[in-house]
Amino acid sequence: MNVRMEAMTWMEYADRVKGGGAVVFLPVGSLEQHGPHLPMHCDEVIPRVLSEAVALRIGALVAPSILYGYKSQPRSGGGNHLPGTISLDADIVIGHVRDVIAELARHGVRRIVVMDGHYENTMLINEGIDLALRRLRFDHVTDMKILRIGYYEFTSEETIRRVWPRGFPGWPLEHAGVMETSVMLHLVPDLVHMDRVPTHPPAALPPYDVYPVTNANWPGLPASGALISAADASAEKGAILFNEYVARIHEAVVHEFKLA
Ligand SMILES: [Zn+2]
Repeated sequence: MNVRMEAMTWMEYADRVKGGGAVVFLPVGSLEQHGPHLPMHCDEVIPRVLSEAVALRIGALVAPSILYGYKSQPRSGGGNHLPGTISLDADIVIGHVRDVIAELARHGVRRIVVMDGHYENTMLINEGIDLALRRLRFDHVTDMKILRIGYYEFTSEETIRRVWPRGFPGWPLEHAGVMETSVMLHLVPDLVHMDRVPTHPPAALPPYDVYPVTNANWPGLPASGALISAADASAEKGAILFNEYVARIHEAVVHEFKLA
């Protein structure tokens, strides 16, 4: 069954979303350097493929991803100053999310899951959702329900112990780390270069930000663009993580939209 909205004719799509019962996933990623070993669309691939997997289970649709995201921050993404990273200003990200949601609503969609793959997008997606709902209230659309999901927040304690037996470093440092590298090895192994994984220690960064972001202002930033080594990543760990995300996000979506 096809879940990709853009691959349907408009009439097939209109039929699927008629009545407002259909769930539509909207993946939001980034084009951001992910160290010497991962492709730059990592933050888009993972939420998109997760969305497709959950959508297949429940007969939902997946809208085209928003590929560009908010500016990579040094303490959670290595920084916006590295080549390849293409970021949007905050108001553009907010407006993009707001407009896509409002358009889906115009088509009759009333159940949306915004699937976030880029840490720095979080509050901007929340704002886009809030502004879309405000706009829709003026149009007398009051039966909309939207979930924003940061998929990595579905990692259970048990999985954390299995994937990081030597201790979990925390999500901000995990940029291009064991989780993303493992899940990408599971999903798109041809795009992952394990022979180039950096082996440097975790970035030692201050608990504050310094602007402008330059190598001189941030002496603790690894030149690799990764904040930690992903040497312990494996496709097996990627399968554990991915399958847990699919199962638990499926459960959350079924619960919130009362699909069972
Ligand atoms: Zn990432």
